[in-house]
Amino acid sequence: MTQRPDKHDASTVGEQTWSVHGGNHAEGEGGAIRVPVTMANSYHLPADPSTMDWSNPEHLTYTRNTGVNQIALQDKLVALEHGQDAVALASGVAALHAVFFSHVSVGDHVVVADATYEATYKLWTSLLPRKYGIDATFVDIADLDDVRAAIRPNTKLIVTEVIANPTTKVADIAALADLAHAAGALLMVDSTFTPPPLFRPLDHGADLVVHSLTKYINGHGDAMGGAVIGTATAVEPIRSEAMVDVGGVISPFNAWLIMRGSVTLPLRLRQHQASALELARFLESDERIAYVAYPGLESHPQHDLAVRQFGGAARPTRDSAASCRSH
Ligand SMILES: *Cc1c(COP(=O)(O)O)cnc(C)c1O
Repeated sequence: MTQRPDKHDASTVGEQTWSVHGGNHAEGEGGAIRVPVTMANSYHLPADPSTMDWSNPEHLTYTRNTGVNQIALQDKLVALEHGQDAVALASGVAALHAVFFSHVSVGDHVVVADATYEATYKLWTSLLPRKYGIDATFVDIADLDDVRAAIRPNTKLIVTEVIANPTTKVADIAALADLAHAAGALLMVDSTFTPPPLFRPLDHGADLVVHSLTKYINGHGDAMGGAVIGTATAVEPIRSEAMVDVGGVISPFNAWLIMRGSVTLPLRLRQHQASALELARFLESDERIAYVAYPGLESHPQHDLAVRQFGGAARPTRDSAASCRSH
């Protein structure tokens, strides 16, 4: 494997360039310019395996432990999210479960946003409390007093989405990170609705970011995947416990497809936002529609937080919407 570029040296390479080149440390046959798909379930061992560092996550041995295309995708996600390490898995739900499985044990407590993706809700209302004896308290994630009041001495994790699927309630990630860290807990953020460059939870103090790669990051509707990106210490148990020993690894082909799809992420995101805002304004102007929940609308209860947190990205101008429409 070639020497990797510095993972996110913003001084030399812009964020859109990382969407094209991040993780693409190729030295393919004949000088291929992209990392090729490597459909192998295992790799040759050295003649004397006793010299191998088995705990090195980049040492290619068996594809449940790591593989060429997983490494490339993980490195790209690290660059895009400003993380230190990442684990790519078979789906977004596998990534959520991997975080919960690795970071919470029997007798622990978690604080969970009341509006979340269905699987997160089900994991914390029934599966994990019933099977593993972990307590969860659901809170109004927009009410920091409610979050503070729910924290207990054994709280290990605060779990939230940035913009909740499907209610679009917005979480203040920096404030939640402060609350979590004051309690000795970690903040896990499902950022599927707010992929980079729109927002980077790690820059705002979160410890772990989860993505359903199936959605915006791949963007082409042809592969499922999930990932956890974060600090090296927070990601390490996810790789060693949840990926290697539970086994929800991503297939090399899906990792390759997502790597390819994500090249156009910044361009697609601009169009998504412009189209969504235009659609939201159109619906809001129709008196037959009772309400429209979109953080980019002035009528959204957390519009100011959205504008502050997403650096104005929640408020594209009418001009940008119009110019996208003309294409
Ligand atoms: C879709 C989704 C998931 C689950 O991802 P899969 O790839 O379908 O397993 C998790 N969180 C959010 C916010 C999602 O929209």
